[in-house]
Amino acid sequence: MRNETLAVHAGRSIDPATGAVTPPIHLSTTFEREADGSYPHGYDYIRTNNPNREALEKCLCELEGGVAAAAFSSGSAATVSVFQALAPGDHVIAPNDAYTGTSALLRNVLAPWGLQVTFVDMTNPADVSQAIQPNTRLIWIETPSNPLLKITDIGKISAIAHQANALCVCDNTWATPIGQKPFNWDADLIVHSMTKYLGGHSDVLGGVVISRVEDDFFRRIKTIQTSGGAVASPFDCWLILRGIQTLPYRMRAHSENASKVATFLSDHPKVELVHYPGLKEHPGHEIAALQMPLFGGMLSFQVKGGREEAFALVAKVQLFTRATSLGGVESLIEHRASIEGLGTSTPDNLLRVSVGLEHPDDLIADLAQALG
Ligand SMILES: *Cc1c(COP(=O)(O)O)cnc(C)c1O
Repeated sequence: MRNETLAVHAGRSIDPATGAVTPPIHLSTTFEREADGSYPHGYDYIRTNNPNREALEKCLCELEGGVAAAAFSSGSAATVSVFQALAPGDHVIAPNDAYTGTSALLRNVLAPWGLQVTFVDMTNPADVSQAIQPNTRLIWIETPSNPLLKITDIGKISAIAHQANALCVCDNTWATPIGQKPFNWDADLIVHSMTKYLGGHSDVLGGVVISRVEDDFFRRIKTIQTSGGAVASPFDCWLILRGIQTLPYRMRAHSENASKVATFLSDHPKVELVHYPGLKEHPGHEIAALQMPLFGGMLSFQVKGGREEAFALVAKVQLFTRATSLGGVESLIEHRASIEGLGTSTPDNLLRVSVGLEHPDDLIADLAQALG
């Protein structure tokens, strides 16, 4: 079935007890067992499983074309579970422009735990091949990247990983299953921060790992989920499942609006450079056109001048909210270098934009008046 149909129906069914069309939220922490000790409904304790979490996991599996999923309390908890399923002493390769939270986890939590990490430019497959070591077990990719929207060729990096007997994991948060299907390009696992487009309304935190096969590695992730307990709550799962119902239509509009905003900005004399994979002049455009049915709702741009000019612009916007995060219905703008802090390589004149679902002409008018 197609995305739109899966988004509405996958993981959902009429509640047999009441006939409710919308699934009930199951808050019970515990479930009754039979006298013989069995659990006739398959649930025993909320940390192990819960009907709302199971429904969400099923829906995400179907949308990504995987076979198993594990939902976590945040995208970062999902990320950590993948690395913790490796063993101390294993080596991983990650992008040098990975989401700051992911790089921080690798540097501050997983490296002290014993994981070896090499950060490379993922847009250059030769650099990735060169970084392979005998103990390389996993290559992490994130495409489009944050905040420069660099595009990684998922198929090429998967092939390099598989040749080295390593796994290829794709953080698909920005593209979503509507804008990119990493399993079609041979990735082994997909990670999402559901806090962004999947939830879609800036009101819920969550993460998920989806697997192409149900193997020992995924079973370790599942053990980390159920034993570690960083699980998504029933209400959060319910909210995200609700959000997903409109995901295909939201993504179409996010992408269309972002494309219009990107074109406006790239024609503006006060803008130095626009980073949006849908623009023909974007260095990753050709690969993006191949692996992304939609270019997505995220873009960044560099104003002429420096930090001061960037700050002056964000001081004047009225429709865009100055805030971090992304993927909600409302447009956000952010001076990325400030949030990434000391040591960031993000240009000081760069602003990152999460293009929302307002009318694109209103968004463009706001940017036009702010650019002056
Ligand atoms: C936000 C984000 C994360 C982290 O997710 P949380 O839900 O905030 O923990 C990971 N990867 C990407 C690409 C993100 O944008």
